[in-house]
Amino acid sequence: MTPPRKILIVGGGTAGWMAALHMQHLWGDRDMEITLIESARIGTVGVGEGTTPLIKEFFDRLGIPESEWMPECAATYKCGIAFPDWSTVEGHETYFHPFFSEQDRAHVSHFWDNCNLRRDGFDIPAHPDDYFVSTAMVRQNRCPIAQTPGVPNAVYGYHFDAALMGQYFRKKAIELGVHHVEDTIERVQLSEDGRIAAVETEQHGALEADFFVDCTGFRGLLIREALGEEMRSMRDYMFNDGAIAIPTPHEEGQALSSETVSKALSHGWCWHIPLVTRMGNGYVFSTDYISHDEAEAEFREYLGARAEGREAHRLYWKPGRLDNHWQKNCLAVGLSQGFLEPLEALMINVIQSTIESFTHCFEQGGFSNQQQETFNQNVNLFIDGIRDYLQLHYKLNTRTDSQYWIDTRENPHMSDHLRTILEAWDSNADFDRVLFDHINQQIYPRTSWYCMLAGMGRFPEASKHAMRVPVRHQQRAAAASQQQAMDFWPHQEYLQQIYAAKA
Ligand SMILES: Cc1cc2nc3c(=O)[nH]c(=O)nc-3n(C[C@H](O)[C@H](O)[C@H](O)COP(=O)(O)OP(=O)(O)OC[C@H]3O[C@@H](n4cnc5c(N)ncnc54)[C@H](O)[C@@H]3O)c2cc1C
Repeated sequence: MTPPRKILIVGGGTAGWMAALHMQHLWGDRDMEITLIESARIGTVGVGEGTTPLIKEFFDRLGIPESEWMPECAATYKCGIAFPDWSTVEGHETYFHPFFSEQDRAHVSHFWDNCNLRRDGFDIPAHPDDYFVSTAMVRQNRCPIAQTPGVPNAVYGYHFDAALMGQYFRKKAIELGVHHVEDTIERVQLSEDGRIAAVETEQHGALEADFFVDCTGFRGLLIREALGEEMRSMRDYMFNDGAIAIPTPHEEGQALSSETVSKALSHGWCWHIPLVTRMGNGYVFSTDYISHDEAEAEFREYLGARAEGREAHRLYWKPGRLDNHWQKNCLAVGLSQGFLEPLEALMINVIQSTIESFTHCFEQGGFSNQQQETFNQNVNLFIDGIRDYLQLHYKLNTRTDSQYWIDTRENPHMSDHLRTILEAWDSNADFDRVLFDHINQQIYPRTSWYCMLAGMGRFPEASKHAMRVPVRHQQRAAAASQQQAMDFWPHQEYLQQIYAAKA
């Protein structure tokens, strides 16, 4: 297959505009035409406000400074995610999953060592919250930008308003030279060899291209409806398929946090995402156990007066993924390629990785069937790796307050990879060796696995006495991370500076 010259991106949600920006930036000065079509009638999904550190590379590559885009998107910094109430194990009722930073190198091996001693039954402190600078920064309401000269910034992601980000991406992509069409596609035309030839629109007639990027959201207008690619269900692994989003105003006098909170509720979990203008909140659950009406009632009661009069946005999906994200002359990006659930806020990461691997193939001259197959296998490996890590949260929960939590914990469906990891942790196996042996199936690094397993208190009864040295290591790490955190700006103060720079 020859590399495309005319690319039509269908869909103007986060996926479509990210694809447009990335491709235009990379190929805009070549003989290549990139157009994005979106429907004014069919809205975007309107959620997706938490990210991972990968997105920083996206902005950096485009040369867009934080002082430009963050104020336009009500964005805040993100140091990681707190997980309250997933575990009932004493001392482990909450834990923080930090983004791992250079500053953590000095203490992380003590964390691993202490976890392994604790696995072995020693009465050793092995809670992740003591060991990482990001955790300490969140506790001190700081952000990951260093104020002390010579100290590097910590690793971080962002929170942003999805609607404002959509508008910003659109403005930026058009400035860069992406052609923009507002219209609704009625039909997809296939050529004799089964490739997409054109899309028929309501007002602009047939739009032809030699390559199409399907960013039409859950519907998958091109990849699924026209090319017949099927969604592989992940329902056996991931039970959640519904959400209610209710944004609320900030509470008076509350400092702006740099963490996402993912708190367990009766039949799922809820996110709290701090933006400059408001809190983003949403309850994610399984409709097999609770209806949208029941979930909304529970969530409103939990949010209290803040949610009064606030509109709820209902979302539905079927957890799954495609097998072929790139099929013939069409690449699916975003919700059209599948969605598991929002825990750990990974979808924008999947979007970015998919686009970047695709353009990388192109740069390598890789439009052969073999390259396409490898690409699809890699995307699947990536998504399945995410699925395993997400499912582990449910496998480790110790709640007994609803059948939902019992069933997600006792769910016998899990990949061999996840089963191996869990069994290794629970046994006296060399856990690091097992992680290393399965490195290709892992999206998350060693520290993340340790953080979740230790954070949720997945340890045997302590049957052996405490040892002085590991206790001292934990105390030193806790004191050092609290001290190191002071090298970083208070979150609110730093945001005020960059927001003022924009004004
Ligand atoms: C509850 C929930 C919470 C989430 N939270 C996070 C999070 O914290 N972090 C994260 O990374 N991700 C999150 N996600 C995922 C994230 O929202 C999406 O990945 C992201 O918004 C991208 O969506 P999209 O662009 O693929 O689709 P959409 O936003 O649905 O956009 C689809 C586009 O296709 C266009 N379109 C559709 N049909 C036609 C047609 N016939 N003609 C023309 N145009 C058409 C529409 O106009 C629209 O522009 C969450 C998802 C859900 C459901």
